[in-house]
Amino acid sequence: MSGRSKLLKVVLLGDGGVGKSSLMNRFVSNKFDSQSFHTIGVEFLNKDVTVNGDNYTMQIWDTAGQERFKSLRTPFYRGADICMLTFAMDDRKSFENLPMWKREFLYYADIQEGSPFPFIILGNKVDMPNREVSDDVARSWCTKHGNVPYFETSAKDSINVELAFTSAVSRFREMEDQLEIKQVHTTNSVDLSRKAKSSGVGCCS
Ligand code: GDP
Repeated sequence: MSGRSKLLKVVLLGDGGVGKSSLMNRFVSNKFDSQSFHTIGVEFLNKDVTVNGDNYTMQIWDTAGQERFKSLRTPFYRGADICMLTFAMDDRKSFENLPMWKREFLYYADIQEGSPFPFIILGNKVDMPNREVSDDVARSWCTKHGNVPYFETSAKDSINVELAFTSAVSRFREMEDQLEIKQVHTTNSVDLSRKAKSSGVGCCS
């Protein structure tokens, strides 16, 4: 096992209210709060994981309500290593918006459409009885869009959350060699994650 921990910037995207903050809090702190509280600004939390004997620090960025604030998007997306696109099972519109979120991510992260990139799709709120997106429909969308891994989660009942996040790291590992290496011109230290890749050195936690 390597002693060093590689920093992975993970962005959680999707419509407001689908449960992005809740998923992040469940994964990082194993907590769930039924109150939705949003601050404006970029927020992230770190969580250390070990996948196949390698250590990673997942730096998970949540939009924290700024879906509406376009100016905050570039620093949020730039240098991302993994993108988790999220919808809510009980909200068909949030599922239909996935292509929009994907396009937007690629645009602001400055990644060419069609380039390999580790996306993961989360269908959250699987605990809800009024399901509007079937398993079949969601899975065929994921197959059509590059065999993207798909997980049905519940931040509330702690279903598949840990599995989804660690599988995102596995997906990153599978694709790591194909990823475009970018020199990101920003003073934001987080964006060094992608730069670090070019020298084969990960950042330490
Ligand atoms: P965000 O805007 O995407 O970050 O969504 P939030 O995490 O703020 O969640 C929006 C609302 O959905 C809140 O009231 C949460 O308590 C609720 N919520 C989040 N995840 C789940 C879940 O898995 N199941 C259920 N039933 N409610 C959830």
